[in-house]
Amino acid sequence: MVSTPPERDVNEAELDVTTRKTWAAGIPGVTTSLRRGVEQMGALRTGATLRLLNQREGFDCPGCAWPEPRGHRSVAEFCENGAKAVAEEATRRRVGPEFFAEHPIAELAERTDYWLGQQGRITQPVVLRPGATHYTPIDWSAAFELIAGQLRALSTPDEAVFYTSGRTSNEAAFLYQLLVRSFGTNNLPDCSNMCHESSGAALAETTGIGKGSVTLEDVTRADLLVVVGQNPGTNHPRMLSALEKAKANGARIIAVNPLPEAGLLRFKNPQKVSGLLGKGTALADVFCQIRLGGDQALFQAIGHLLLRWEAERPGTVVDRDFVAGSTEGFEEYAAHVAEVDWEAVDVATGLDRAEVERVARMFAESERTVVCWAMGLTQHKHSVPTIREIANVALLRGMIGKPGAGLCPVRGHSNVQGDRTMGIWEKMPEKFLAALDTEFGITAPRSHGLDTVGAIRAMRDGQARVFMAVGGNFASASPDTAVTEAALRACDLTVHVSTKLNRSHVVHGRTALILPTRGRTERDEQAAGEQFVTVEDSMSVVHRSRGRLEPASEHLMSEVGIVCGLALALFGPEHPVPWAALSGDYDLVRDRISRVVPGCADYNARVREPDGFVLPHAPRDSREFTGTRTGKAVFTANPLTVLRVPPGRLLLQTLRSHDQYNTTIYGLDDRYRGIKDGRRVVLVNPHDITDLGLADGQLVTLISEWPEDPTGVVERHAHRFRVVAYDTTRGCAAAYFPEANSLIPLDSTADTSNTPTSKSVVIRLEPEVVSDEP
Ligand code: SF4
Repeated sequence: MVSTPPERDVNEAELDVTTRKTWAAGIPGVTTSLRRGVEQMGALRTGATLRLLNQREGFDCPGCAWPEPRGHRSVAEFCENGAKAVAEEATRRRVGPEFFAEHPIAELAERTDYWLGQQGRITQPVVLRPGATHYTPIDWSAAFELIAGQLRALSTPDEAVFYTSGRTSNEAAFLYQLLVRSFGTNNLPDCSNMCHESSGAALAETTGIGKGSVTLEDVTRADLLVVVGQNPGTNHPRMLSALEKAKANGARIIAVNPLPEAGLLRFKNPQKVSGLLGKGTALADVFCQIRLGGDQALFQAIGHLLLRWEAERPGTVVDRDFVAGSTEGFEEYAAHVAEVDWEAVDVATGLDRAEVERVARMFAESERTVVCWAMGLTQHKHSVPTIREIANVALLRGMIGKPGAGLCPVRGHSNVQGDRTMGIWEKMPEKFLAALDTEFGITAPRSHGLDTVGAIRAMRDGQARVFMAVGGNFASASPDTAVTEAALRACDLTVHVSTKLNRSHVVHGRTALILPTRGRTERDEQAAGEQFVTVEDSMSVVHRSRGRLEPASEHLMSEVGIVCGLALALFGPEHPVPWAALSGDYDLVRDRISRVVPGCADYNARVREPDGFVLPHAPRDSREFTGTRTGKAVFTANPLTVLRVPPGRLLLQTLRSHDQYNTTIYGLDDRYRGIKDGRRVVLVNPHDITDLGLADGQLVTLISEWPEDPTGVVERHAHRFRVVAYDTTRGCAAAYFPEANSLIPLDSTADTSNTPTSKSVVIRLEPEVVSDEP
């Protein structure tokens, strides 16, 4: 059975709120996976597709970047949200020329991202001409000529912006950055700018490499796992299997979060009868319900306590050999945290000192500690200092480059790390650019390009006139919705390489193109035969992905084909890069990758190993910190940030529902948090609801306040949110991304990383007049 897409958009009046769950997965996880698969694909296709998901000869999950186990894989090597991601891509619903003829752009612009996404796969390239009311079909060569013509007409290549989402394969990403640099700009913003840039910045500075230092085996061998600012039950669900395995091996888990997320508390493993029918595995031994933005203070306090205990019993807490031989900056750090301000720690964390001490004691007792984190840590103004403090504690204890220990920033989108490895970055190092020049006989530009925030500013101000995105939903993913949308509308041309409709297609430039591409699940036939692509997971494992389904339409091109087709139209056949040959045989692309990208030598052979290969990581592999200025890991002394909130205000974080992956909305339920049939909710502690004179279920406007010279304070409003009483930390609230993005101004970004601050937003809530109209 294939159901029809929903007819209506969201109406908060129909929101249903039930008790939040205290465990994740189990039977509801299995039934939801199957139901969503059958709704979108039908029963037979669901079975045929899921059987290949995350298997060695199958395709990589288009969801998150959590790694597959090396060696044995189970028959169902996926989670509920992986199944949803696949169902969305392998859906039988179609958006063809008739759809665009029937729906004017003005009507589509009124629809939610959920409604747009539920219409199905786009089957043909379409164009929206200046002043037109509808997208109409265009053939591929005309589309490429149109883009090439607009690019050639720019007064400088820097007037174009080339965005990448984290789903793009390594091969497509490598060719895309080659096209962009051959054209003459480094304007290569990506979704990493909006999520894990703070991790990359802090880790590159302290360990010399902006990636995590653990393998999946380290996670299961750790005796202490610390999960900070991360909701694995929704955003990286198979991590729960690793946590369960670690617990079985005797590990203890500390969860640090403002919300008691189901996936931090208990896991009912759907792969086991005991998981389906029994009580499951309790996960967090200690749950620190921290105040938003208090993580830096927590880790600074832990560092203080570890050093105090070391002074009391020398040689028992600090790994002195490691600190003396492999690090620098220890004395300054130790002096800094010796003076820690406990009153500030109390305010920042909202935790009891005894609780902080208990956590620190667990660090001191652990032989093998892994600290994991995600966007709960990376999207604050002080995210980079926060992650530096985590590195400080790991260095004190010698927890880098040791089996069962390390730092683990858990990445979001499935190939976001691989895209960066392949050169999608506005400031790739000279070594990479020089290798690119040598390999292809081009001269890559050297001046840094625009990141996401810089690109929005440039488009807003008329300094960038063409915007192209390979994947993603830029309009919804970016902060400051109104400014981002105005920036896209100010462009002469917007181009989106996509599988399905989303908001970015209806917030368009004067001319707009949608170029439909094949998905991960689909067969990719080229001149040299059937192709596979490669991806890199969160733990630096590079492996193959081969789709098997018939493409959704005969008119689709692969991402590699689209990049090469555009390059041929832009540069012509005489260009030093053999674009036509590369698009026909991805082995030729991988040969080039092996000569340009560090750590990728012999790429074609190594990705054909059953589990692929692991990219080198000097701190993890040999405890060497070759990427830092002095070749040593770096302790840092960071001034403590304490968020003090005026009376009547709350600290807001944006977060994802369980029926969502980034901007893709799979459904309107958030099963774990007990929300059904709606998304415009604000989760508030019941005591705060009372103190604010509000009521559970009341409709409110969320208002953020931002100092702005010379006018004083500028308010931002997000209307029609329903208050839901929820056991968040006192003074902290939560609302879904992207609905709450409008509250965050473009200029509010994290220090050093320039990541938009989607966390720790000061808001007040004002009652709204109740209406039944959506
Ligand atoms: S854990 Fe992530 S990669 Fe694995 S199946 Fe789930 S969504 Fe996909």
